[in-house]
Amino acid sequence: MKICDILKEKFTISFEFFPPKTREGEENLFNTINDLLTFNKDFNPDFVSITFGAGGTTKDKTFEITKKIKDKYNLTILEHFTCYGLSKKDIETYLKRIKDIGIENILALRGDKPRNIEDFVPPPDTLNYASELVEFIKNIDKSFCIGVAGYPEGHPKAPSLEKDIEYLKLKLDKGASFVITQLFFDNNDFYRYIELVRKKGIEAPIIPGILPIISWTNLERFTQLSGAKLPQKIYEDLYPHKDDKDYIIKYGIEFSIKQIEDLIEFGIPGIHIFTLNKSYSSKMILKEILKKI
Ligand code: FAD
Repeated sequence: MKICDILKEKFTISFEFFPPKTREGEENLFNTINDLLTFNKDFNPDFVSITFGAGGTTKDKTFEITKKIKDKYNLTILEHFTCYGLSKKDIETYLKRIKDIGIENILALRGDKPRNIEDFVPPPDTLNYASELVEFIKNIDKSFCIGVAGYPEGHPKAPSLEKDIEYLKLKLDKGASFVITQLFFDNNDFYRYIELVRKKGIEAPIIPGILPIISWTNLERFTQLSGAKLPQKIYEDLYPHKDDKDYIIKYGIEFSIKQIEDLIEFGIPGIHIFTLNKSYSSKMILKEILKKI
């Protein structure tokens, strides 16, 4: 199904997964999916998304795991796709591959330089911005439903939040239909973002990305990678317990429940949970949230 159509009908709950590197990781992912599909008999995610390594570094793995998920479960898939570092031919080939297995939804991203390849040189005809990718995809095949990334605190490299929102508008003007945001922990950043975005005339649904806090190491890593700020209160609450796994997981679940409840009250079109291929926290969060929607 097209996510653009689902969003017109209902509040969406969706999960992000990444393509595992090992057989064990893959087994773990399928256990996670099974768990998320069975913990509540009345619940099914509206879609699941599969990440794509910067510079196309996981493109075969992403494709392979997408196909396995598609074959095994009756799930709507949102395929992440990053253009930076790929040639136009590579992009066209990948689009054809996913179309052939019935993928209808793409999260069109620019991506970054792959961190693990120091002397990475992109091909001369690579696309430099996600807006160019949206346009490129639409020129090849109008039928794809396209989502793009949004940054409630601004993209870390953007000259300003306002400028970043102008570029968001460009992505939507070129043919994207919905937005999934970067993680954030202070809902006020999201509310301010929505206000600015709507002022710019952007009407597309904006789905907040939710990261359940599952460990101190993860929290440090993801705030660093994404540029999302770690509120002082969370730091003070968690730092003294940074080695107590159970404490952090419990805190993370309670924090996400409160965060999502507040967002629902504000009026969001759905939530997208960055699962990190683990089910426990997502499941515990949803057990509460499903009572509220
Ligand atoms: P863009 O929208 O192109 O923006 C990139 C930067 O350029 C911003 O600073 C923007 O302000 C600026 N900009 C945009 N257009 C122009 C222009 N015309 N002129 C000048 N400046 C411009 N990364 C992965 O590698 N794989 C993934 O699977 C992945 N999934 C993600 C999922 C979500 C929900 C989010 C929020 C991010 C994800 N990312 C992923 C990270 C993303 O690839 C990086 O944040 C990347 O740096 C920017 O991608 P973008 O699509 O937002 O780029």
